[in-house]
Amino acid sequence: MNILVINCGSSSLKFQLIDATDEKLIAKGLCERIGIEGSQLVYAPTGGEKVTAVTPMGDHTEAIRLVLEALTNEKNGVVKSLKEIGAVGHRIVHGGEKFASSTMITDEVIKAIEECNTLAPLHNPANLIGIDACKKLMPGTPMVAVFDTAFHQTMPEEAYMYAIPYKYYREYKVRRYGFHGTSHSYVSHRAAQLLGRNYEDLKIIVCHLGNGASISAIKNGKCVDTSMGLTPLEGLIMGTRSGDIDPAIIKFIADTEGKNIDEIMDVLNKESGVLGLSDGFSSDFRDLVDAYEKGEEASVRTMKVFAYHVAKYVGAYTAAMNGVDAICFTAGFGENSAFIRTLVCAYLGYLGIEIDEEANAKRGVEGIITTADSRTNVLAIPTNEELAIARETFALVK
Ligand code: AMP
Repeated sequence: MNILVINCGSSSLKFQLIDATDEKLIAKGLCERIGIEGSQLVYAPTGGEKVTAVTPMGDHTEAIRLVLEALTNEKNGVVKSLKEIGAVGHRIVHGGEKFASSTMITDEVIKAIEECNTLAPLHNPANLIGIDACKKLMPGTPMVAVFDTAFHQTMPEEAYMYAIPYKYYREYKVRRYGFHGTSHSYVSHRAAQLLGRNYEDLKIIVCHLGNGASISAIKNGKCVDTSMGLTPLEGLIMGTRSGDIDPAIIKFIADTEGKNIDEIMDVLNKESGVLGLSDGFSSDFRDLVDAYEKGEEASVRTMKVFAYHVAKYVGAYTAAMNGVDAICFTAGFGENSAFIRTLVCAYLGYLGIEIDEEANAKRGVEGIITTADSRTNVLAIPTNEELAIARETFALVK
């Protein structure tokens, strides 16, 4: 069965068509600048030529119509008709406490997702627009919602509660939710397979290091803690997001620069992280590694602070699980960069980690990067959130 995976943002839309039976990618692409001048569709059929078409897209329905046209196009389409698309899997950012697993999309589910909009005001409404557009263009095709937060719903109370007045939890459900759930789930399951071990017998830490970064602790097959919180701003240092800070810094910036709360949130979401630490040099880890290797001070500082924070969380989660069997690195930076894996693991001597330099040097390749003698396994595992969404979708509709 072919599954169309849709990841809808406020002005962009990424898609993949995956054959869920053999898990092969049939085509992928993205629509950018939806509703803005200069919108374009990038369409890449597997084994075929990548096409970029600058074409007006007034809204998401129009964007999805163009995607479906590209997929069924006589010249370079990959299916003869929309009947060959068995189901649609939608990535939904926030499922609150309502969704602990993926679910078939019904009118009630749409209503429940809408009720989570206050928890993710930038993301959930865009995700819902994607669902609405697909409903219009592919009536009768089953659709599944796969939540970024669902995998983390197994966290115990001691991990998800904040020490603020309890009424904020009771009345508004303010708590840690965590994100990147499909990635943490996919990578931790893969780690168990690569180690030839039972998922339920392992203590695993997944470091998802990309432009957005988060880390999670998975004990006996269940997520027990994760670094992102009510929103994706908490936790590790990211491309432009600050991660953990003293909340009083917000008042300090307001008092010293006269900024209002929205302006300060912009500083923390868009001007901080490695971009802020490097004094505006770059939010891109590749640039920072290159500059680090040339000994440029701002990038050396930035990478040292970034790696230290990751190592600190690994320590915390090792304590939370009373041990760790496997530490996994994934996402753009984590899966591709031997540099960051080495920098983080340099802090983890107490776990008896022995890096296999040759295995670690391979880029974007799945595998164990520690020696046979290493007391703890370290793995590099390219994440594949779209495949994870296709699997979840297939499991519910087949
Ligand atoms: P993601 O958000 O998962 O797509 O990750 C994007 C980040 O991964 C960007 O900051 C890239 O610079 C970084 N990245 C991708 N490939 C490499 C690489 N070979 N070395 C270092 N960083 C990389």
